Amino acid sequence: MSILSLDKLTKNFGGLMAVDHVSFDVNEGEIFGLIGPNGSGKTTIFNLINHYYTATDGKIIFKGQDITNKKTFEIARLGIGRTFQVVKPLRRLSVEENVMAAAFARESTFAGARKVASEMIDFCNLTNVSNMKAGGLPIGGRKRLEIARALATRPSLILLDETAAGLNPSELDEAIDIIKGIRDKLGITIIIVEHIMKVIMNISDRIHAIAFGATITEGPPAEVAKHPTVIEAYLGSDYKMEGQNYA
Ligand code: ADP
Ligand code: MG
Repeated sequence: MSILSLDKLTKNFGGLMAVDHVSFDVNEGEIFGLIGPNGSGKTTIFNLINHYYTATDGKIIFKGQDITNKKTFEIARLGIGRTFQVVKPLRRLSVEENVMAAAFARESTFAGARKVASEMIDFCNLTNVSNMKAGGLPIGGRKRLEIARALATRPSLILLDETAAGLNPSELDEAIDIIKGIRDKLGITIIIVEHIMKVIMNISDRIHAIAFGATITEGPPAEVAKHPTVIEAYLGSDYKMEGQNYA
């Protein structure tokens, strides 16, 4: 069953077609990968789904409802959460306070927000730093805090924008476990934008590839990785597929 459908979604920035009639369906319970070179329109698609940007054309259907022109906070309330490519925690607040601030999107009481925050902090392996100022966290912790904040809004669909970028190999494995757990343990559908091939190829059920704002192909990871235009446009022509060593 489809939870989110994009129907010929289009965004034009003063003549630049950042997103050019992109259509896809994301199934409930799926990890759906979105790939493409820098500047190909991935973050813009997320910004359209959340209505940070208004679509020039096309439609976004979430759980059967047209959300194309709904307000950002309404979309969050309907159950779409997201992380940002450039993480912006409230630096002077603690990790716990940051996650609680996000939890208030749904929870009206302090105790309720604190409970949700504590669960998501634990889920993202942040319990031992929950009293630390967010500004003092190293990159791996900041990325996990960003995920915890998005989860604290209790979404049924989460949009992850390059949450694994900048992580070292052991943090990368931890991030993969957390992302898989978001679907497997919390039952949340995921759309993931990620440049690191090891991550995207490992965890996606299906991948949608774009370049210059337009769709190239869509399918299971192994098929998409073999697509000549994907290899050329995204992976570089010297790219070779060797087992799981995509990175
Ligand atoms: P990606 O996330 O795939 O790297 P983006 O969605 O950030 O790509 O950007 C797609 C294109 O849209 C780029 O050419 C970018 O410069 C342009 N773009 C993104 N946001 C804006 C904006 N607010 N105003 C003008 N152009 C933008
Ligand atoms: Mg981006």
